[in-house]
Amino acid sequence: MLRTVITAAVGLTLATGCAPDSTAPVKVSVLSRSSNGQYVPTQVELTTIEDVVGLKGTVGDLQGGARIVIDVNDPGLQNATEDTIADVLIKKSGHDVKASYISQKDEKTGEDVLWPADFHSWNMVTSYYNLERANEYFRTVANVKTVSFEPSPTLYYFPEFVQAQVSKEPARDNALFYPVLQSFLVLPFEKIQRAPLPLNAAVMAHEYSHLVFNRLAYAGQSLPQSLSTWGSQSPSQGANVLKAFDEGLADYHAYGATCRSPSGCDPRFMAPSFDGGAYSAVTDARDLSRGDRCMSALLYARVQQQDLGTFSADGAEYQVGTLLATALYQAGRSTGQEAQLQRDIVSAYYDTTPGKEGIFQLTQIVLGDQSRFSLAVPAASIIAHISDLELRKAVCNEFMDHLQIPRADLIGDNLCPASAAGGTTCPNIHQ
Ligand SMILES: [Zn+2]
Repeated sequence: MLRTVITAAVGLTLATGCAPDSTAPVKVSVLSRSSNGQYVPTQVELTTIEDVVGLKGTVGDLQGGARIVIDVNDPGLQNATEDTIADVLIKKSGHDVKASYISQKDEKTGEDVLWPADFHSWNMVTSYYNLERANEYFRTVANVKTVSFEPSPTLYYFPEFVQAQVSKEPARDNALFYPVLQSFLVLPFEKIQRAPLPLNAAVMAHEYSHLVFNRLAYAGQSLPQSLSTWGSQSPSQGANVLKAFDEGLADYHAYGATCRSPSGCDPRFMAPSFDGGAYSAVTDARDLSRGDRCMSALLYARVQQQDLGTFSADGAEYQVGTLLATALYQAGRSTGQEAQLQRDIVSAYYDTTPGKEGIFQLTQIVLGDQSRFSLAVPAASIIAHISDLELRKAVCNEFMDHLQIPRADLIGDNLCPASAAGGTTCPNIHQ
């Protein structure tokens, strides 16, 4: 991977080094997955960039050299509020990144194309491009309004990120959305060498999906009230369900984003991801095309009965999330309506319409009693937002079958039709 990049950059006929014209659109070369699955230099156009050297634009702002420390014993946290917590966690805010380019004329078009001049420049400009692509997916396919993306998030590039309860050493080999800072973190890597995470467009789309879920299903709260209230109680069914939906929908949207790439729809995109949790180490554990996954009685009971810490300790939110993503994948594929389904799902995140409340509104209604926020609640909200009857019924059947959501919880006006009977793939765990 690294070797390919360096060869490509050195092999150029070097044109003048320059202070590139910064405003969009800018033609640059990024590392992108080609139709044969290799990451290769690819000429693209950045359409939202305002500063191509500092890598800042309407979809994000790359920041280098930051130090972020999460420590529950940090005395600064005692009096922190939602408005001041970022100042406590960010020990060093870092500085604007500075990408270097070599400008070269494209032989066919005669236009100037910027070639990143070193590995970090390749990595950073590709990160920005991947944010732009994910943003485009959510704006066009999922119909998310531009205002939902404001203010544009910071992407901390290679920060020192210390989670004191895990280790004193800075974390590595991860890319994440951190809602408390409303920011993305792309951590330094040491083990992942074939496809660094920020280069994997689907991984970035997964993280971007967490941003969208936060902005809508958590109404943009840095410390989501439903999650923090419920997560501090035991058992914490509501918090477990929210985490599982956030992860499962992130995988499903990441898959959806791959369908707009040159290499095409890829239900196995997560293979190189290290999103966290023991489960994600299994390379094909999150392959969405496996249609034989079933909710077990044990996992179902864990969602209802465990506290969030115990539930998450072995990545159970990813296990439930994969069942959800797989169910949605099967329903979208079988009806040929994947893009419509992706749009309908996001429309269920936030909706004030009486009788058709969004996930955020539903959390507010039962905030005082999370035992009422079962898997069926956000599932029913998604179903209520699917207008096509064939697609709706397909999702109903998949939810009843693979997620084992009780049929009685999903049948009703504006919900599943009486003809939805579930499926026959999975054993019934409710008998
Ligand atoms: Zn995730």
